[in-house]
Amino acid sequence: MEIRLSGITEESIVDGPGLRLVIFTQGCPHQCHGCHNPDTHDINGGYTTKLEDLFHYIEKSASHNKILRGVTFSGGEPFLQAEPLAHLAKRLKSLGLDIVSYSGFTFEQLAAMAVNHKGVGQLLKQTDILIDGLYRASERDLGLAFRGSRNQRLVDVAATLTVGRVIAWEDSAQRIWA
Ligand code: SF4
Repeated sequence: MEIRLSGITEESIVDGPGLRLVIFTQGCPHQCHGCHNPDTHDINGGYTTKLEDLFHYIEKSASHNKILRGVTFSGGEPFLQAEPLAHLAKRLKSLGLDIVSYSGFTFEQLAAMAVNHKGVGQLLKQTDILIDGLYRASERDLGLAFRGSRNQRLVDVAATLTVGRVIAWEDSAQRIWA
């Protein structure tokens, strides 16, 4: 199985909680005005890599970086390649890494898409935190954690799937220090 990527960042503290490795997927249909990653839009751009090779690359990186908390799927639109990312996420979680995924689709849209696209449901289930919604320049806010505009949400996916309505993710560490 192959996946099309735009790039990889080995260390980030702005794409989810803790230190994270970020996979930038290639291809995005959303065309948000003011998008910071326009090079990721072309579905034929970027480069392809074997999922197996990508997994071993991340596994090696994590073995050298003991404080790596997890992996973030950014883009582009990660859910365009939901099936390979779901497989990858499952294997990464077996290494003790957590999964954050961005999407220009909302949780509700993804849940509806999952009815006909098995991979979308599989990736949702493997995702710990979904950062959802389009980037809206009119709602830009530099003070937000991990996202660019106020309409975007940090969704606790496991809690949301259990309760049946969107539950916001809250950082327990921040709650302790609040
Ligand atoms: S969803 Fe993300 S990558 Fe796609 S156009 Fe919007 S901001 Fe850019």
